[in-house]
Amino acid sequence: MDLILPGEDDPRRLGVRAFLEDHPTPTGRQLAEAGYVAPHWPRPWGLGADPLHQLLIDEELRRAGVRRPDNQIGIGWAGPTILHAGTPAQKERYLMPLLAGEEIWCQLFSEPSAGSDLASLATRALRDGDDYVIRGQKVWTSGAHLAQFGILIARTDPEVPKHDGITYLICPMDSQGITVRPIVDMTGMHSFNEVFFDDVHLPVANRVGEENRGWSLAKVTLGNERVSLSGAGTIWGRGPTAADLVELVRQQGGCTEPLLRQRLAGAYIDGEVLRLLRLRTVAAAVAGRPPGPEASVRKALADAHGKEVMRLAKDLSGAAGMLAEAAPFGVTDPVWSFGFLFSPALTIGGGTAEVQRNIIAERSLGLPHEPDRDAGTPWSRIRR
Ligand SMILES: Cc1cc2nc3c(=O)[nH]c(=O)nc-3n(C[C@H](O)[C@H](O)[C@H](O)COP(=O)(O)OP(=O)(O)OC[C@H]3O[C@@H](n4cnc5c(N)ncnc54)[C@H](O)[C@@H]3O)c2cc1C
Repeated sequence: MDLILPGEDDPRRLGVRAFLEDHPTPTGRQLAEAGYVAPHWPRPWGLGADPLHQLLIDEELRRAGVRRPDNQIGIGWAGPTILHAGTPAQKERYLMPLLAGEEIWCQLFSEPSAGSDLASLATRALRDGDDYVIRGQKVWTSGAHLAQFGILIARTDPEVPKHDGITYLICPMDSQGITVRPIVDMTGMHSFNEVFFDDVHLPVANRVGEENRGWSLAKVTLGNERVSLSGAGTIWGRGPTAADLVELVRQQGGCTEPLLRQRLAGAYIDGEVLRLLRLRTVAAAVAGRPPGPEASVRKALADAHGKEVMRLAKDLSGAAGMLAEAAPFGVTDPVWSFGFLFSPALTIGGGTAEVQRNIIAERSLGLPHEPDRDAGTPWSRIRR
């Protein structure tokens, strides 16, 4: 199954080609102003493009070797939330630099005692005249050391049920009172951080939506996060695929060990199932149908699949696999050893495997909600 896109003479396709002729190596700003970074966003930030138009733009940019700005949290999660509930002044100020990749964003959600049960967060935002004063700690904040802004959720009212006292704020990362402390993960990479807030003043103008109504906006962000983290490729859309591993094995003369062969075949089949699920979701969008349960099932399957592909690559290296840098058959591409060490994060970040299953059980299969003792209400609303 594959999607057949409109042909070479489609005016939308020709429009992208004309742009690329004028800008053979476009900057992030040029791509953003042309509406090609998030084409489905409304003008002036996007083109209000339908799914087919988006696919055409993707195809033309890929063919020309043009990459969009790398600002995953900004473009994928913060931007859509500001678009959804931001003031005209916030949209004017933040959206274009974010699309252009000129201002990088991070997500200040998780805390030491609030991950899956995010609504239990303890970071306070106390109103003081025209400011909120922020006090507390966030953790696992990807890119906080690189970001100019963060989307922050903090508790403005501790007296009401936990989901009702949260406010959504835009936080400049150079604000006085913010300390960013690195966490180095087992790949040796410094990608996430602890972030401490010691009486950080944020203007009320930085609030997105109404005071105490931030949980519904956090759910908009988390919904975009799940979709964004369920693309093709084994490391949240960024790593090699099972088909790449099979190809590597082929190039090296094949594999005769029966159990490894069986696992390779299994990984290839799972990779194809995921590819088809992705195509089915895209096809539904192109036909104007809602995405259906495939979208949420995909992240749950893709994360476990990513771990298996990376473990299999390590096992294919035999005894050499015990060396940190080893990749299958002594191939030196470090993506495999990095992927092996990073892959346990796949079933944690963006909502754990167990939480994904809860969402599928409750939303897609219609099973009863689990009881939530903390909330004092019969139903849990964990990280969703
Ligand atoms: C690579 C990476 C990048 C990240 N980047 C960011 C970021 O930029 N910003 C940010 O805010 N956060 C970020 N996170 C944090 C991430 O969102 C949390 O780690 C995740 O939500 C899980 O929370 P936790 O770590 O507190 O685990 P916990 O919620 O404490 O979970 C511990 C275990 O209990 C299980 N569990 C919890 N509740 C249930 C339940 N109801 N039913 C069944 N099992 C349950 C979980 O599945 C898990 O196995 C990142 C994490 C990773 C790995």
